[in-house]
Amino acid sequence: MTAPLRLLTVHAHPDDEASKGSSTVARYRDEGVESSLVCCTGGEEGDILNKAADSPEVRADLGTVRRRELQRAADIIGYEHVHMLGYRDSGMKDTPSNDHPDSFHRAPLDEAVGRLVAIIRQRRPHVIVTYADDQQGYQHPDHVKVNDISVPAFTAAGDPDAYGDLGEPWQPLKMYYTTWSRARIKAMHDKFIELGLESPYGEGWFTRPSTDDKVTTRVEISGYYQVRVDALLAQTAEFNTALNAAGARVAGDVQKAAALRAQLAAAQKQLAAIKAAAAAASKAAGNQSKATPAPTYATTGASGGAGGDD
Ligand SMILES: [Zn+2]
Repeated sequence: MTAPLRLLTVHAHPDDEASKGSSTVARYRDEGVESSLVCCTGGEEGDILNKAADSPEVRADLGTVRRRELQRAADIIGYEHVHMLGYRDSGMKDTPSNDHPDSFHRAPLDEAVGRLVAIIRQRRPHVIVTYADDQQGYQHPDHVKVNDISVPAFTAAGDPDAYGDLGEPWQPLKMYYTTWSRARIKAMHDKFIELGLESPYGEGWFTRPSTDDKVTTRVEISGYYQVRVDALLAQTAEFNTALNAAGARVAGDVQKAAALRAQLAAAQKQLAAIKAAAAAASKAAGNQSKATPAPTYATTGASGGAGGDD
């Protein structure tokens, strides 16, 4: 038996593993690929968008809550291993949390690369999936830093002269950048409109710089979209109520709407047929009551009896 292929993904915050490429990981998992997740920060700066989950206890210990949610999402997606890189969420650009000494974006490059190298050497992935160098669309300092550390770690992991005390060298074969696709967003947007539904995709999605021209690889995820929805739902502190607003349930909703519309069309057709039959019946009944008084009815009955002998 050949050894399984291994995949390692690098993400910035808890919930990124759900929103980016989760269906892809689920699909490869089903094909027997062993997958590991590296999450660089604890998500301490996440917004509690779900008001139902907002309590003093959750606020006091958001890191622990998010770590638990991350594990739940990772289980749903099918990750075998979850590694925390151990840094603090840096928050959005120009916010006070950017200055926190433990924040990921302030971490010395050498140190952060070393932590990732140690995980790569432990998990020995053939393929690494990380963020792109071009992040004009969403410039979170932690997301930018994910690329900053992944590129040198990819090479250093296989270099016996680099980080010699951090395990046996292992050279991954390929590295992919995960990215959003405007074509996909537009297709979903158009489907909403076509179905007469309100699209969750506002103007911002279509003015955001597109990176579609850089896409080299597309992964078929039919049958795996629900994994993404379920993994996002597992991140209840941040995502639960945002789901509807942000259209993360798009596929499920569109499918449901299409099924309901099909049901409605079938019901309307049935209703029309019933109405037509009722109209015909009442017309026939009307004709009969006009044209066939009781004695004639008896004659008709006799001829019917004759017919019955055939
Ligand atoms: Zn993030």
